[in-house]
Amino acid sequence: MDALQFDRRHLWRPYAGMREPGPVHHVVEAEGVWLTLADGARMIDAMSSWWCAAHGHRHPQIVAAMTAQLNRMPHVMFGGLTHDPAIDLGRRLVAMLPEGLDRIFYSDSGSVAVEVALKMALQAQVARGFPARTAFATVRGGYHGDTWKAMSLCDPDTGMHGQYGRALQIEHFVAAPPIPFDADWDEDPARNGLSEVAQLLQAHGERIAAFILEPVVQGAGGMRFYHPAYLTGLRALCDAHGVLLIFDEIATGFGRTGRMFAMDFVNVVPDILCLGKALTGGHITFAATVAHETVAESISAGSPGVLMHGPTFMANPLACAAASASLDLLQGDDWRETVRRIEAQLQTELAPARSLAGVQDVRVLGAIGVIEMKAPLDTSRVHAFAKTSGVFLRPFGRLLYAMPPYVTRPDELTRITTAMLDIAGWSA
Ligand code: PMP
Repeated sequence: MDALQFDRRHLWRPYAGMREPGPVHHVVEAEGVWLTLADGARMIDAMSSWWCAAHGHRHPQIVAAMTAQLNRMPHVMFGGLTHDPAIDLGRRLVAMLPEGLDRIFYSDSGSVAVEVALKMALQAQVARGFPARTAFATVRGGYHGDTWKAMSLCDPDTGMHGQYGRALQIEHFVAAPPIPFDADWDEDPARNGLSEVAQLLQAHGERIAAFILEPVVQGAGGMRFYHPAYLTGLRALCDAHGVLLIFDEIATGFGRTGRMFAMDFVNVVPDILCLGKALTGGHITFAATVAHETVAESISAGSPGVLMHGPTFMANPLACAAASASLDLLQGDDWRETVRRIEAQLQTELAPARSLAGVQDVRVLGAIGVIEMKAPLDTSRVHAFAKTSGVFLRPFGRLLYAMPPYVTRPDELTRITTAMLDIAGWSA
């Protein structure tokens, strides 16, 4: 059995069955924006490997930090032990986050970071004397991960609900924030989506522990960009009803939107923040849940006074070292200029797609470019086209999108946008 036959028979792929798992490209090396395949072909990773390889693959500074750490201490447990990589990373995160949002829980992946956030919210509410606050609320069109509770807060139609519906706890959903990022904000709550939130909290607020959403950019749930002012109104409503606010910045964090965090478009500080993906520059799995000191205080002062979560690989030193090196690459303001440049080029070069018959919408924010089609894309054809175009794209449903590494050069970005226009043109 050759390698690909073995892969096909024995290795489960994301969101796939074992019978017809779909074709795969066999990657043997990754460097910068380039993926090299077993047959020597090369393609640009226009997806930053699902948002995470912000500085490109195998970045020398991140690799050096990881190698040094690997040679010293790849892993030790975090119970009863601590280490410099965890502390150094913690210092960097605290320095870049809003004041008070500074109690860090390290974990293994984005979904787990969301689980931890939900558990924190629940425990803080119980500790504050609200044991009935056991439900959660969110917006439609969201995505928060594939673990059980995170899954129940993904969009009920496009998420996992169809598959696991009856086994999932029903949570409270309101409409996705209706005003697009670049439209004028409408103060009328009936039109800006906030009256539905107000009604929900009025009716069920006393049973809701927290409201969770992705600030500004809804990623895997639909690649939508909404107006940041929604977050200001949401914060006020949550405060009025004693509901905690959780921001999931797992996809948006670390410069992707043009701001360090998407929440920086407005001065809204959540009670709990989830980070992941680009945290390590995509070099190794890692995530963090950051609680506001008030949440941490409530949990710690309550009974039993401990957060009941402690993964085996919590604060993995190798991942911490990668994350610190990745954050060091975001020091200074160079990345802002880079993301602005990518944004401008995506705007210009994707604009012609608007006139294609099969295209519903084209939108760009920071280093994220989206072509929304009227009909679902032929994913197998797009997959095969990657070899021809030298650009790896992985659409879902009607969405063809790219979030290239920040190190993508203008000529490489043109290859990406050209491939996207070609694909969008097929169904024109
Ligand atoms: N939240 C958001 C906003 C995400 O985009 C993702 C991953 N696509 C997750 C959570 C889950 O992260 P992970 O896949 O690392 O578990």
